Amino acid sequence: MTETVAAETGRDFIRDIIQADLDSGRRQGVVTRFPPEPNGYLHIGHAKSICLNFGAAQEFGGRCHLRFDDTNPVKEEQEYIDAIKADVRWLGFDWGEHLYHASDYFEQLYAWAEHLIQAGKAYVDDQSPEEMRLARGTLTEPGKNSPFRDRTIEENLDLFRRMRAGEFPNGARVLRAKIDMAAGNINLRDPVLYRILHANHPRTGTAWCIYPSYDFAHGQSDAIEHVTHSICTLEFADHRPLYDWFIDNLPVPSQPHQYEFARLNITYTVLSKRVLTTLVRDKHVAGWDDPRMPTLAGLRRRGVPPAALREFVRRIGVAKANSLVDMAMFDSAVRDTLNKTAQRRMAVLKPLKVVITNYEGPDEELEAVNHPDDPSAGTRKIAFGRELYIEQDDFMENPPKKFFRLSPGKEVRLRYAYFITCQEVVKDESGNVVELRCTYDPATKGGDAPDGRKVKATLHWLSARDSVAAEMRLYNPLFKNPEPNVADFTNEMNPNSLEVLADARIEPALARSNSTEPVQFERQGYFTRDPDSTADRPVFNRTIGLRDTFAKEVGK
Ligand code: ATP
Ligand code: MG
Repeated sequence: MTETVAAETGRDFIRDIIQADLDSGRRQGVVTRFPPEPNGYLHIGHAKSICLNFGAAQEFGGRCHLRFDDTNPVKEEQEYIDAIKADVRWLGFDWGEHLYHASDYFEQLYAWAEHLIQAGKAYVDDQSPEEMRLARGTLTEPGKNSPFRDRTIEENLDLFRRMRAGEFPNGARVLRAKIDMAAGNINLRDPVLYRILHANHPRTGTAWCIYPSYDFAHGQSDAIEHVTHSICTLEFADHRPLYDWFIDNLPVPSQPHQYEFARLNITYTVLSKRVLTTLVRDKHVAGWDDPRMPTLAGLRRRGVPPAALREFVRRIGVAKANSLVDMAMFDSAVRDTLNKTAQRRMAVLKPLKVVITNYEGPDEELEAVNHPDDPSAGTRKIAFGRELYIEQDDFMENPPKKFFRLSPGKEVRLRYAYFITCQEVVKDESGNVVELRCTYDPATKGGDAPDGRKVKATLHWLSARDSVAAEMRLYNPLFKNPEPNVADFTNEMNPNSLEVLADARIEPALARSNSTEPVQFERQGYFTRDPDSTADRPVFNRTIGLRDTFAKEVGK
């Protein structure tokens, strides 16, 4: 089979396989599943898997299940279960009535374990974990049979039942499949099916003190649910022979098949639940929904719309070889999506006061366009008056040649308003520029000069009186290096991942609105209201800048 990564066509090798299975009649329909372990929040890598599983099922008229892989009670929490459901829905997918848990199948899995024992294909092993590890062999050397491998069926059944009954402490014994300790594939060297764990399970409480391994639970859960295409990431490719062994050796109700695709990796971030959990636990970030986190909760809070995530996943496609995706790919998917939907507003992030010395009348209202490409988005009024704010960066007292914005004697356009000319610079005692005195040309109302004279820059601005103070949170990547070393990730964190601007100004209507719809602050980027906002202090997150400036900022 040839591999296709044609993101443009929306086709990939998984979808090709499904199509071929349907065409040949090998499958009558498509059932997939997304199987998160509820031990953390979902991240953007999971979004790839969700879009693939739910997306492919949808496209082929099938269904996708949400199944919690809750076989490890120690690390699992209800908070994660709730967050995962909310995140999948937010991303735009619906499992309908098909919500399942591996723990729903504990009784059936147990019965199948006894079935293997009865067939002479599983045994209880009393070796210590260390002994088992040593006897497993290596990639080049075969393993050694356990001294307990030839127990009788009766003895195995008796011991396994007593394991279930709680007679033994954690780790005292395990149930193993009896396959082949010399198998080239280490996964087939008598893998563990059940281990003893006296722990409270979020769903089954204390009903069980033995829990199935991932390998024993996963394929059989697929079979119970009549999953046809069990799609997972590449690291499970070596487990597929074991997956098939269980399906072949158990009286399962259907024959699922496992397919592997490359997991998503992105530069400047880490998609490992272990690392993300540590970042939260050790307070390197403010929580799972910190806007710097690659979690869906973090991206949502930052203002990334679900459509942008789906678009990103569509653009990267699905391949069979691992690769590293440039963060810039993600950023441009976010930018392209927001460019179409976000209304335009003006905000001044680092304000510099401008006094229009020849402006005498009362404040006037000017008309501003809400979306340049979408007239149906309408217009809004913005106040113009004698005192304004512009961006500090838009003024230079001694500009280099190519600086076309405001400087002494220079004329620029204020967006939607007038041409202004800088006449005088006011400084404080330390020599900092604190105010500009400018004149305006009343004949340029709306932004054009009747005499045809041109200016080289158009600046955004706000009325000093008719704007509201706001806090802006600017985010940069969490990590300094494109490929952070996860073994030492605390030293790899970008110390400038969050920059807070406490004295920004925004349009008053935006301050009054509780909407979390992202907006574009003209010439600045896309921003979204943060839930930390209060009635008198709005807080905005920069979702993404207008251009890719990060490479420049880190000096790369
Ligand atoms: P852990 O690191 O704890 O094993 P995980 O990231 O694999 O966790 P799971 O909850 O087991 O998390 O993942 C659910 C599904 O999401 C799995 O099918 C897994 O293959 C897929 N998945 C996880 N990470 C990625 C990724 N980076 N890219 C694509 N799919 C992923
Ligand atoms: Mg996993």
